[in-house]
Amino acid sequence: MDKVRFATVWLAGCSGCHMSFLDMDEWLIELAQHVDVVYSPVGSDLKHYPENVDVCLVEGGIANEDNLELILQVRRQTKILISFGDCAVTANVPAMRNMLGGAEPVLKRAYLELGDVGPQLPHEPGIVPELLDRVLPVHEVVPVDIYMPGCPPPADRIRATLEPLLRGEMPLMEGREMIKFG
Ligand code: SF4
Repeated sequence: MDKVRFATVWLAGCSGCHMSFLDMDEWLIELAQHVDVVYSPVGSDLKHYPENVDVCLVEGGIANEDNLELILQVRRQTKILISFGDCAVTANVPAMRNMLGGAEPVLKRAYLELGDVGPQLPHEPGIVPELLDRVLPVHEVVPVDIYMPGCPPPADRIRATLEPLLRGEMPLMEGREMIKFG
């Protein structure tokens, strides 16, 4: 049986969901026997998201132009896209800045009003990605196949989501163990 082409993506999140992924400990060895990790901040050095990905865990909301470009590419090139954690599912913590009303007031608050030394706005086209006015959950930008809430989702939930996928089945995301937020 062909290995599953597996990816994980880190957008606007704290990486805690990826840390929880690593908490699967010895099951990662079993997972490695069934998947090829074709893109991931924790398992691959590839800079470009590849074609024909079977399963992708997406951590984080969509907060800037880079996030937006990557999630559109991920959707085009992935069969099963999983919103991985509360920041992907609801935008969660990164979306707290939405209350300030747009990218400009957020940047002014962070870099001018609260800047202790030499306050200035970051502006380096092509290097510093432009902020979007609002941080968005993944499903507001592209269709999502599976929602896996949790901040972070516990390792057992990640494993219980991935195991059926490795058998070619969709996981049943229901009940407290699978869909509890926070
Ligand atoms: S859901 Fe929680 S653990 Fe995951 S990226 Fe967001 S804040 Fe971090």
